[in-house]
Amino acid sequence: MTITAPSIELPKIEISEELIRRFDSLGPRYTSYPTADRFNDKFDEHIYIKYLQQPSSAPLSIYVHLPFCASICYYCGCNKIITKDHGRSAKYLRYLEKEMALATSHLQGKRQVAQLHLGGGTPTFLSSDELHELMDMLRKYFDFAPDAELGIEIDPRTVNDTMLGMLAGLGFNRTSLGVQDFDPEVQKAVNRIQPVAMVENAITASRAAGFLSVNFDLIYGLPKQNLGSFSTTLDEVIRLSPDRIALYNYAHLPARFKPQRRIVESELPPAEERLQIFLMSLRRLLDAGYVYIGLDHFAKPDDDLTRAQASKTLHRNFQGYTTRAECDLIGLGVSSIGKVGHSYSQSIGTLEDYYARLDAGQLPIKKGFELSMDDVLRRHIIMNFMCSEPIDFDAINKMYVIDFIEYFSQEIKRLQPYLDAGLITLGANSISVTPKGRMFVRAVGMVFDKYLQQATTAQYSRLI
Ligand code: SF4
Repeated sequence: MTITAPSIELPKIEISEELIRRFDSLGPRYTSYPTADRFNDKFDEHIYIKYLQQPSSAPLSIYVHLPFCASICYYCGCNKIITKDHGRSAKYLRYLEKEMALATSHLQGKRQVAQLHLGGGTPTFLSSDELHELMDMLRKYFDFAPDAELGIEIDPRTVNDTMLGMLAGLGFNRTSLGVQDFDPEVQKAVNRIQPVAMVENAITASRAAGFLSVNFDLIYGLPKQNLGSFSTTLDEVIRLSPDRIALYNYAHLPARFKPQRRIVESELPPAEERLQIFLMSLRRLLDAGYVYIGLDHFAKPDDDLTRAQASKTLHRNFQGYTTRAECDLIGLGVSSIGKVGHSYSQSIGTLEDYYARLDAGQLPIKKGFELSMDDVLRRHIIMNFMCSEPIDFDAINKMYVIDFIEYFSQEIKRLQPYLDAGLITLGANSISVTPKGRMFVRAVGMVFDKYLQQATTAQYSRLI
């Protein structure tokens, strides 16, 4: 299927295997800066409350982590609990309400919710009644803007037309379907069986229910995948025509993620084949009319993300790319991450500790980070790069009372290889990412990451 040409002008992206080999390195995905591995346990509930209480008119974004899944996918790196016992989610909801009540008791003024995202785990592990209950709670404690974006991650194995209609009725307008790969052999190798017809039903029913945007998550680098098999998967993806596509590179870290130990390493595609799969996917998605948004995200020309990219209003947060301007993010549930004012916070990861802290009347914060002005400045620059937006020295000098050229003299020197390769341009008053540099924004951002110079990059993934 070919997508209708857009009315906005879209930059062309050049694909170069040689550039990928040279500039694709291990590095953070920068959904935050500093990255979550920098969070420390000196940041506790009291510090979090101090930030919650700061007067602000910034809109809110809410992330709710729903950790339950009915079965394990072997590639999984999420914080989840595998269970068939649906009674466990009923208890979890009671504690989510306690957390909402506590967190909102500290917020000052009228803060409207611009964005909600239910992630997991499997949010659709919850029954219809439980999802109703959760939305009632959220609407009781938070004031949702009429045009709020309400998104939910959907496991196609857990939904039917009635459930999708019910979700649209609850106000959800965006959904993300975990597709990964359509090849039955790959699905068997990762223990996630979901035939094309099942996903087709889910996308058709989502559209019929009125969802404005449907995203597919795809993963390459999975066991039993090869160039031919993934090309067949892409045939189906392009035919089903989701509005957005996230094409993730599977990071095999069995020492860190237990389920991955069940993946047969000899069945993983070798590095060279992964690169070819990525290049083929990139070509095919662009040929089908998708626009490359950045990192591993693609969108249709008429999607909000593409429009935001064209109008330079794209943002990046823990959910990836977004059209919503700077919000304070309230994380709810185990291991959820928040961003309030100049701070990041993360909740406890186990249910037992999460319940115990809330029973004691405390917010379940495990760790976090208070940003210095240098951190805020570097975050501004790195996030601009991640969204391929120009860095305007005058604007930054004015905002942070610095002299950009002097302050970042070392970083500017380290940008030379990227300039030489034509990935960025450096003017008297700005740095811009070129269309071919879009794929390497993470590497350019890393030049400005103060903490990376002290860290090992072993825990990070490659783009390809
Ligand atoms: S990949 Fe998603 S559905 Fe599968 S086990 Fe992990 S969190 Fe659950």
